[in-house]
Amino acid sequence: KELPADPITENYTRQVKGACFSYVKPKTTSKPSLIHVSEEMLRELGLTPEDAKTDDFLNVFTGKKVLPNTKPYAMCYGGHQFGNWAGQLGDGRAINLAEVVHQDKRWALQLKGAGETPYSRSADGLAVLRSSIREYLCSEAMFHLGVPTTRALSLALTGDNVLRDMMYNGNPEFEKGAVLCRVAPTFIRFGNFEIHAAREDHATLKKLADYTIKHFYSHLGEPSKETYVKLFKEIARKTLETIIHWQRVGFVHGVLNTDNMSVLGLTIDYGPYGWLEGFDFGWTPNTTDATHKRYRFGNQPNIGLWNLYQLANALYPLINETKGLEDALNAYKEDFEVKSLEMMRKKLGLFTSEEKEDTTLTMQLEELLENNEIDMTLFFRNLSTFKKQNPEKGAKLIEEAFYFPAELEGDVLKKWNAWFELYAIRLKNEKLNDEERKKKMNTINPKYVLRNYMAQLAIDAANNGDYSLVDELYNLLKRPYDEQPEHEKWFVKRPDWARHKIGCSM
Ligand code: AMP
Ligand code: MG
Ligand code: MG
Repeated sequence: KELPADPITENYTRQVKGACFSYVKPKTTSKPSLIHVSEEMLRELGLTPEDAKTDDFLNVFTGKKVLPNTKPYAMCYGGHQFGNWAGQLGDGRAINLAEVVHQDKRWALQLKGAGETPYSRSADGLAVLRSSIREYLCSEAMFHLGVPTTRALSLALTGDNVLRDMMYNGNPEFEKGAVLCRVAPTFIRFGNFEIHAAREDHATLKKLADYTIKHFYSHLGEPSKETYVKLFKEIARKTLETIIHWQRVGFVHGVLNTDNMSVLGLTIDYGPYGWLEGFDFGWTPNTTDATHKRYRFGNQPNIGLWNLYQLANALYPLINETKGLEDALNAYKEDFEVKSLEMMRKKLGLFTSEEKEDTTLTMQLEELLENNEIDMTLFFRNLSTFKKQNPEKGAKLIEEAFYFPAELEGDVLKKWNAWFELYAIRLKNEKLNDEERKKKMNTINPKYVLRNYMAQLAIDAANNGDYSLVDELYNLLKRPYDEQPEHEKWFVKRPDWARHKIGCSM
């Protein structure tokens, strides 16, 4: 091992100092059974669907059997939660099984929900079926949307029950326990650096930074002060890139604490996340954040920056100079303006030219979208059928996206018609014809996303032992940009019964 390990190998809850991880044993499950396996992820690891049908696979990926010559471990990290330093957190319900290299790609395999670790604090280290389905479906869906993310390999029931406070009725209830195997080149987070910096343990901090560079940023060169600055710059760039993707597809993470920020810029920790239904910068799916809405849709880019400040502080002892770090933080702000406009241009089908007025055009659109409850996914997908010769027909095309279609009249209709006039004029300066533009827009604006109620339907069926919807949604979301006529029923607004209902994290 290249990183310092915790010398204690018992798993009682404790502060782990001078170490990056602790060896642990996954909990033995009573009667594990597989629910779903990602064929794409299997292939990435050099495994076949046949491999996934073996007892070995089932036992290894539910924690019942440890792979030969491996030593599972949980990582030590800290974090800022909702803006406050929370001290040591760590993998409280995640256990890394091993790292494997296949076709020059390095993958860490991690079980989520396989029992207690030294970082479990007062919790049980377990996961329920509900939250595991949400992570399984959403992380694979994000991958197919082209958003940097951790992946999922397998979803299994443990055969054991887990006690949880159900969000909807407030009463403790037994739920089915589950284990997810998730996969990423690494699960190192901002918080892994912060914990050592907070303890002024600069030796361990340096080892972790050098390890990160060696394995994941080797193109930056040998470790040095300059390289640490470059590392930070790259992490900032990747973080921004991912957040712009979230804004593009309407994903709201919900708990952007620094322990949920990947040093590879991956979307990590699928808890109370949600998808925009009505386009609303103020929306958050996280009911525990309902007052301040710190992690609301429109604030995600700012929070990315805030979190990067914390990472900059953590790396500072290795650099002892603020200039490079500050430059990177300033670059984030500037790049955000440029990149988000670039992203919005594409969503609007402006591919071949850039104009000063594009900023106004997109801002006006966002304002209009916010004024009424308008489904983001339906709106942008239907916008691709706009014809530049017929701006007067624009409103008709997007009417379907209105949760209350009757609102599209009077003043509201007038404003939309005015906007479509401007849009049509702007499109006339584009080289693409209507058909070409539509085709390209449909590679930017997904047709199918994991709407909150869709995950909920899959969960309800799964709790009754029916996994067909998990499979159906999994397959649907493999091709989010394609027309899938047989799946048109998922290209609709959220039904009324699901209004303001969302899943939750634990
Ligand atoms: P999260 O809000 O999911 O980012 O989790 C914050 C911290 O709580 C992390 O250190 C998790 O490992 C820990 N945690 C969350 N759920 C559990 C659980 N059921 N058992 C043990 N630790 C948990
Ligand atoms: Mg977390
Ligand atoms: Mg979580």
